[in-house]
Amino acid sequence: FFRDLEAQGIHLNRPQVQAVRHFKGPLLTLAGAGSGKTTVLVCRVAYLLAVHRVHPGHLLLITFSKKAAEEMRDRLALMPGLDSGLSNTIQVRTFHAFCLRTLRMNGFDQDILSDGRYQQIVIKRIMLSMGLQDTYQPEVLMSLLSSYKMQLIEVDDLPEKTDEEQELKQIFMQYEQWKIEQHKFDFDDILVKAYQLLQEQPDVLRSLQRKFAYISVDEFQDTNTVQYEIIKMIAQHHQNLMVVGDDDQTIYSFNGARNEFILQFHEQYHAAKTVTLDINYRSSSSIVGLGNAIIRHNVQRKNKTLLATKQSVCGPQYIRPTSSDDESDWLISDIRSKVDAGGCSYGDIAVLYRTTSNSRAIIEQLILHNLPFVDYGNSDSFYDQWMVKPIIDHLRLAYERRNIEAMEGVLPSLYIGREQGMRIIQEQEAVQAKKWPLIHLLGLPQLKDFQKEKLKNRIRLIKSLADMKPLEAIQAIRKDFYDAFLETNKRSKLTHHREMLRETLDELESSAKRFDSVEQFLYFIHEVAEKRTELFVSRRDHAADKIALMTIHKSKGLEFPVVYLLCAVEGNMPHSSALEASHLDDVQIAGVSKRDKEGAALEEERRLAYVAVTRAKAELLISSPLFFRGKKAEPSRFLVSAFSGADSVAAAGRALPAAVKAAAAGKAAAAVKSRPASERVAAWLCPSERCNAWARISSPQEAQRAAKACPLCGAAMHKGSKQI
Ligand code: ATP
Ligand code: MG
Repeated sequence: FFRDLEAQGIHLNRPQVQAVRHFKGPLLTLAGAGSGKTTVLVCRVAYLLAVHRVHPGHLLLITFSKKAAEEMRDRLALMPGLDSGLSNTIQVRTFHAFCLRTLRMNGFDQDILSDGRYQQIVIKRIMLSMGLQDTYQPEVLMSLLSSYKMQLIEVDDLPEKTDEEQELKQIFMQYEQWKIEQHKFDFDDILVKAYQLLQEQPDVLRSLQRKFAYISVDEFQDTNTVQYEIIKMIAQHHQNLMVVGDDDQTIYSFNGARNEFILQFHEQYHAAKTVTLDINYRSSSSIVGLGNAIIRHNVQRKNKTLLATKQSVCGPQYIRPTSSDDESDWLISDIRSKVDAGGCSYGDIAVLYRTTSNSRAIIEQLILHNLPFVDYGNSDSFYDQWMVKPIIDHLRLAYERRNIEAMEGVLPSLYIGREQGMRIIQEQEAVQAKKWPLIHLLGLPQLKDFQKEKLKNRIRLIKSLADMKPLEAIQAIRKDFYDAFLETNKRSKLTHHREMLRETLDELESSAKRFDSVEQFLYFIHEVAEKRTELFVSRRDHAADKIALMTIHKSKGLEFPVVYLLCAVEGNMPHSSALEASHLDDVQIAGVSKRDKEGAALEEERRLAYVAVTRAKAELLISSPLFFRGKKAEPSRFLVSAFSGADSVAAAGRALPAAVKAAAAGKAAAAVKSRPASERVAAWLCPSERCNAWARISSPQEAQRAAKACPLCGAAMHKGSKQI
């Protein structure tokens, strides 16, 4: 088996072989990024089939995302002794896919609510019936309810000490009841109902236990309570459970993920063997060094330092553009010059960021420059997101009062059903077309007084928007829509969600600021949307060769030759919400003080930074704009502490014995082809080799300055030039 693997160019190291050979009993592989955990998982499945002749039906492989499941199936098909026919018979599934299948096989035929918008309408209706229409945002409530369910907290057991708690509990109970009456499940129900099924029906559980004699779970550090319990039940009988993960990459605790499950694996499985992997095969040594230097500042972790195999051709690059727009300009020209020079293709490149709104500027530029990309985040564009779209629809109505789509978009915020509202508008329009179409809605019989008042105010507002500057217009709508929700000062379970909404609205304002009139702004949005559609239609056939755009969360487990990390500034990385970690009040850890929770939230942000930098194989480019959403921003503390101080020397300096290094070096050099000069610009350069920071000298005033301190390590930078 191993000879056949080697013939395919896969030379496993000794601990990797040990993990692949593992046959019976629980096994934990806790190891750093890029050390071959997923590789080992795939090879062991192939080994069980090819050498131990295990029947493929006895295997269950759980992965974190659909994309990861697809990749794993592809990798399995290439293993010695396997072909795509055999590998397709193995169950490689996400938790959701596995649980849904189990439910379906046991007679659960509920519809799955896959469109969040539908759920939001239901929640809105419930809120209206309780007189709470302006108090909460339905999307926010959905995500709070989800985090409870993932921790197996039943709605009946939610606290009801404060008014807010009582209201939330009421809303959630009615929503759950509505689903029962309508015979529907939402995504979270898929896991929770499967868990209940296994709890309540021993024969179903027994048959799964017998069937899945060998279970493997990738990214185990991010399993949440319900997922953990499901696996525990099924693995109970055979105890042949292999889990791989990295406690430094737990990044889904907002979704209920609990790092303790991996750190305390032995307490649950006393007989568990452990295999440690500490050689990174993915990234060049300077990238591995930076990852080590970032993560070593966390306290709640198993200490491990990764060794590198690939020599660096170039160190991580650090750039400090003036603004997000400047950042996108740089990114576009840098990507173009790399690809034009033949150094890499679009498909080798990933652009990562902390939150979806960070991608607004870059997506616009990619579209306008006609560069191919896949956005792995939202299928919606920035302007189509739930919190932005109604604002744009109001702006549209100011110019085109009869725009049907925009009218439809405005109705939900008035608590008027789309169909009914549009019907009355269209009927009345035929009779008296001179009036503002929305005025016809006043004729709806079931309209309550507060709704009539709201409608009149809204029409007044829309009429006034046409004379305003775009920024002013957005602020006016924002005030009317969201301020009641946003300006609640009370700290509560919703603080974190408020923060995310505020951030998206701030981003919308930064976008609008660039335009002189609302009309120009709307035209720009329209142009971007048109080009986006064109781009997707024309490029659909070249799925592989596209720049990948995603949040750091989505990038887990993946690797790319070239990685750009954007907006690495304080307030974004770490994210401001982590700096006030009240949202962690939901996490049920007995006896943990608020200060500890804040520390925990910051550590999670640091893990995100670690995940981001360790996705890069050969080139890593990090950028921290000087002005972020219109305010001066400091570089991320994670970078500053990693690049400065003596500890980074130790972290970056540890490497493999010379012989291993030399063998790997040739391959690494071949991976990154050098690229010829494209443009030279005047720049400040940091003398430190580890830091590699540089910043463009963008104005004559800057060029006059005698010195400038490096924003990362503090060393005196000198003037020079940089090729971009
Ligand atoms: P992550 O923590 O990001 O999920 P991982 O530990 O799962 O990473 P893999 O994705 O399995 O790591 O491996 C990282 C890279 O190293 C892959 O490109 C893989 O093919 C390669 N690799 C793994 N083991 C070896 C080996 N023994 N020799 C050469 N390359 C290897
Ligand atoms: Mg992996």
